[in-house]
Amino acid sequence: MRIKSVRTVRLRIPWAEPSTPARRKSWNHSAARALPLNKYPEFSRYPGQLPGMGGQVWVQIVAEDGTFGLGVCTFGDPVATLIEQVFAPLLEGRDCLATEFLNDLMWRAMQRPGIAGHAAVAQSGVDLALWDLKGKLLGVPVYSLLGGPCREKIPLYATGDDLDWAMELGFQAFKVTNPVHYDSGTKGLNQLEQKIGLARDTIGADADLMLNAVMSYNVEFAVQVAERLRPFHMRWLEEPLIPIDLEGHIELKRSVPWMPLATGEDHHGRHAFRQLVENRCVDVLQPDINWCGGLSEAIKIYTIGEAAGLISVPHGGANSPFGQHFALALPESPVAEYWLGTDPGIPLEELRHIPGMATPIDGYVTPSDAPGFGLGIEEDWISPR
Ligand SMILES: [Mg+2]
Repeated sequence: MRIKSVRTVRLRIPWAEPSTPARRKSWNHSAARALPLNKYPEFSRYPGQLPGMGGQVWVQIVAEDGTFGLGVCTFGDPVATLIEQVFAPLLEGRDCLATEFLNDLMWRAMQRPGIAGHAAVAQSGVDLALWDLKGKLLGVPVYSLLGGPCREKIPLYATGDDLDWAMELGFQAFKVTNPVHYDSGTKGLNQLEQKIGLARDTIGADADLMLNAVMSYNVEFAVQVAERLRPFHMRWLEEPLIPIDLEGHIELKRSVPWMPLATGEDHHGRHAFRQLVENRCVDVLQPDINWCGGLSEAIKIYTIGEAAGLISVPHGGANSPFGQHFALALPESPVAEYWLGTDPGIPLEELRHIPGMATPIDGYVTPSDAPGFGLGIEEDWISPR
């Protein structure tokens, strides 16, 4: 079966408004979150308002017989342009089941301009559409194509600062946001220590607790953070440094060997992860399936980690069918992240999840066995981008 077309598309999903009223606004409206750019006060510390973020880019790949697969990535027009102008002409007319070959073509095409960043994100959207199409053509869920399932249901952790709501929903592991940058000094360290202390008191001694720094520290500050937080028994400190600072990761791990370090959502491609693993400077790999190069690339990253005895916990994995299929299939991916930034009180099944995506129940989720990623997206909701 040949690929007839690869194109970026828009989805117009007829969302229903939640019928249950919210009890209060979520942390997502009021909790400052540090990111590299908002070190400068002129830039917002609230989600989705920073330059360069762009919007979602959906990719539709149509086979000769009219069957189509859908994938999605982000970062807007620069990524959509790469897909339309570089990857579409490269892939159209080729065998649509040859996902490894098609990925190798995309990867090699981008070696001269550079695979990092936007190119890997664009490849992710195309790769996910290819896997969805393959599953639909073969009539099986993607987790079966990956060799799964390996578990009946996926244990989740909740990301967000509404810990009471997350606990009420049945989550038993929690990751909170980081409000401070490396230049915030003793005051910032005090603020963080107080926040994590309160979180530990709230969730109790037995629950896993993580902190999501999103590249806002340098090595010196990260060492001080790790020492301050040692009494709270963190499950991991996440993404303290910018991804390109390999030497910093090595120095940090040597400085605080007792603090588990997680990173990867802003690393692109298997070679970046191979360097982290070879240098033993990270304990948990967190590729983002929509950014790292796609599901095909995430599996290569997983395998590099598996061989080194490291688990892979994809960024935001349980917020999409793509990540849910990964987690259901792969043994060394023992937990998945569910980003919980919606208003407390509104049941998860009333939220605007991707149609067809399974909703977490009591801190677990199980994707359906529908073919491909089980997306419930009607053809007439799809239009050119
Ligand atoms: Mg993170």
